[in-house]
Amino acid sequence: MLHAHAQPNLKLSAKNSTLQITDVTEEAAKLEAYDGHERVWCGRDDERGLTALVGIHNTVLGPALGGTRVWAHESFEAGLTDVLRLSRGMTYKAAIAGVPFGGGKAVIIADPKKDKTPALLEAYAEMLAALEGQYFTGEDVGLTLADADFLRERTTNVTGTTKGGSGNPSPVTAQGVFLGLKAAFAHRRGHDKLDGVKVAVQGLGSVGWSLCEKLHAEGAKLNVADIDKDAAERARVQFGADIAPTTEILFVEADILAPCALGGLFAGDTIPKLNAEIIAGAANNQLARHEDARLLMERGILYAPDYVINAGGLMNVAAELAPGGYDREATMQMVKEIPATLSAIFKKADAENRPTNDVASDIAMARIKARKA
Ligand code: NAD
Repeated sequence: MLHAHAQPNLKLSAKNSTLQITDVTEEAAKLEAYDGHERVWCGRDDERGLTALVGIHNTVLGPALGGTRVWAHESFEAGLTDVLRLSRGMTYKAAIAGVPFGGGKAVIIADPKKDKTPALLEAYAEMLAALEGQYFTGEDVGLTLADADFLRERTTNVTGTTKGGSGNPSPVTAQGVFLGLKAAFAHRRGHDKLDGVKVAVQGLGSVGWSLCEKLHAEGAKLNVADIDKDAAERARVQFGADIAPTTEILFVEADILAPCALGGLFAGDTIPKLNAEIIAGAANNQLARHEDARLLMERGILYAPDYVINAGGLMNVAAELAPGGYDREATMQMVKEIPATLSAIFKKADAENRPTNDVASDIAMARIKARKA
């Protein structure tokens, strides 16, 4: 079977493909996480083990750009909710970062350690090729640089590769998070010297590890956790980090908490138990709900909005797609502006006694509205 019925905008190039692509926007619209998304595509290939969702949230500022997450969501609905929340976050991230792209993201429902076979990635590459022009992707949790290269060999709309791209964006993301974390610390303490400052890091993957390297180099005292025990042990050896149980890391006593794993962390049941003054980390969608930022504010916790502090990776991949080609220096210059953007948000939030992410989303929405007008 070639592809699904009534898909006027999509063309599968591979002959005899077992992939089916369907528009699941209507199904997505029934979920709480739906936010007027323009389109949600589902690619299924039972033979090759693929269930992929591509969420295209808003393309007012440009074509949708956002990474692909490979994760064993407990259900199709959980994956759909994830892609809706992630793609919406990309719209805000691109608008704040000032890159000419819209919000999109993909989720492949599969265990990245067991199910991510070449056949599955082949099928996903066919889906990406069919979405050409609508969606550009790159790495996210569970999708490595090698995977991005594999996809790029088969379709053009993949960034963050070594195949004519700029490589893995994670170190650039980590640099932006590091600078943003220092800006948050300076906002509260009046200086940004991290010597002896206690930082709790959840997740020691591409971004979390790179962030730990930078924090350790500045003398921060690290407390870390990862579901991968070897990664935590490496951090103990390399950075002298304390290791916390994964169930405890969010609640340990620390000056700064840096979430660098998955989202949905801060909600009514977890916020009262937090023991950090500042939250500044890479994870996308750290808040369970946008409104939960108010609870953080009421507890006196300074929250660096995730899509502002973690925009370095997006800036990097967006630069690959710029008409003049990738310019590393100009990209790093953009990343250096992340702390100033955050400081302005913190000051405005303080002055207006509002949650930081309300201020940030106002800025993003104003930019989108201005373009529409
Ligand atoms: P990654 O897959 O390399 O690392 C994630 C790490 O978190 C893994 O080591 C995993 O074992 C660990 N982990 C998962 N669940 C955990 C838990 N409950 N407790 C402790 N550890 C846990 O991913 P990454 O690229 O480093 O991304 C980390 C986060 O930052 C994600 O939310 C991602 O969406 C976000 N982000 C990444 C980039 C980027 O450039 N890579 C850019 C922006 C945002």
